[in-house]
Amino acid sequence: MTARDKKGEKVPHHCSQCGRDATKKRGNYWFRESGLNNVLLKDIELFQCEYCRCEDPVIPRMNELMRVIAMALAEKPYALVGEEVRFLRKYLGMSQDTFSSVLGCDKTVLSKWERNQQTIGAKSDRLIRAVTVSLGTGLKPIAEQSVRKFSRIDREARSVPIELNTEDLTYTYA
Ligand SMILES: [Zn+2]
Repeated sequence: MTARDKKGEKVPHHCSQCGRDATKKRGNYWFRESGLNNVLLKDIELFQCEYCRCEDPVIPRMNELMRVIAMALAEKPYALVGEEVRFLRKYLGMSQDTFSSVLGCDKTVLSKWERNQQTIGAKSDRLIRAVTVSLGTGLKPIAEQSVRKFSRIDREARSVPIELNTEDLTYTYA
């Protein structure tokens, strides 16, 4: 968010690390705040500090971005990795207790999946996606098309970069 003073005028952005004035520019940004390391926000506004080189992103439409990521994961052509299961559980607003009881698995098993300490079977992977598109906020419209893509999911669990366009809320797998 750009800071504004009482009159609604934009005030200079200060670096979140050193407090000096930062310069506005546009660029790509790895959206690690999402809890995932592989989501790239394309061409967003960033404030770059010349002194410590850090970049503070202006992340627009946070809730909608999280929905598009959940959608991308539900339709991902490879088996899910641990961080993605954790992302989807949090998107559903569920604790590990609740999510494991919905999936019919042991809480310790879910916990191991999320930490990549245990392989997620193909059926569990699909069940996680089916629950996500059924209960996840704003995902019902894609439920049918997502389930129809299940037969094409590669068994190999692979983390693929997701490039997200924040203007039109579309995504591509890089
Ligand atoms: Zn700085």
